[in-house]
Amino acid sequence: MSRTVYLNGEYLPEEEAKVSIFDRGFVMADAVYEVVSVLDGKLIDFDGHQARLKRSLAELEIGNPLADEDYLTMFRELVSRNEITDGMIYLQVTRGNPGDRDFTYPPEDTPQTVVAFTQSKPGLADSPAAKTGWTVITVPDERWGRRDIKTTQLLYPSMAKMASKAKGANDAWLVEDGKVTEGTSNNAYIIKDGIIITRELSHDILHGITRAAVLRFAKEAQMKVEERAFTVAEAQAADEAFVTSASAFVMPVVEIDGVKVGGGKPGNVASRLREIYLDEMRKAAI
Ligand code: PMP
Repeated sequence: MSRTVYLNGEYLPEEEAKVSIFDRGFVMADAVYEVVSVLDGKLIDFDGHQARLKRSLAELEIGNPLADEDYLTMFRELVSRNEITDGMIYLQVTRGNPGDRDFTYPPEDTPQTVVAFTQSKPGLADSPAAKTGWTVITVPDERWGRRDIKTTQLLYPSMAKMASKAKGANDAWLVEDGKVTEGTSNNAYIIKDGIIITRELSHDILHGITRAAVLRFAKEAQMKVEERAFTVAEAQAADEAFVTSASAFVMPVVEIDGVKVGGGKPGNVASRLREIYLDEMRKAAI
């Protein structure tokens, strides 16, 4: 069934949504994006994703073409028109179409391109993988230096994901200067002696919206949190490991480079955090 997608103020059948070959998003990856989960037809952490969208746009000096409430209306419209119960909304804002290719930015009054579409994933929160956990490999982190900006330059993460697939793993953890930065599309955590350890925020990683919520819930549940980088060896020797993202929520990691973590089974803390996260976020969904 053809989806109804959003393009620059219009709701169109996906086949009719066309963007110029000169669009900066196409020729320069000059674009930012967000992915918001939908559970029971409602948006999960819309405000968090909206805040990060605005930050990404501001960091790149791309104008924000819509008001918060316009994004909200558009997301709800897409959920309703596509009858999404569980799934995701993908939103992308590019610097627009200058009508030619040039490294300099187009004039500020060039309209941004706004695209959004839904992905239906029935049973998204009941993923069987959450019961068995993910296996990950590690690869060098060869991305650019502003990973805190959520740009559409996703070639290196795609290459890393393919490398993990080739080895029969679920994902790759990226490693820089001997320390794990994050997963290809998620933030990485270990648990040792009851302490949740995850890399501190900087330009080196994406500031995960799920990360912020999970750390808040962990602290509210009196769990100890340490924000610092960790090595692969430390992760392999940890009691538990997990990743977070808007679509995987809290996903246990049970093997790193062939070494089983926590006996190769999802740990109690990760499983509990997943439960708390899903419960709380469903309650707050809009
Ligand atoms: N790190 C990277 C590199 C990502 O691509 C993502 C997912 N967009 C995340 C972390 C997790 O962020 P969020 O919890 O906001 O989905």
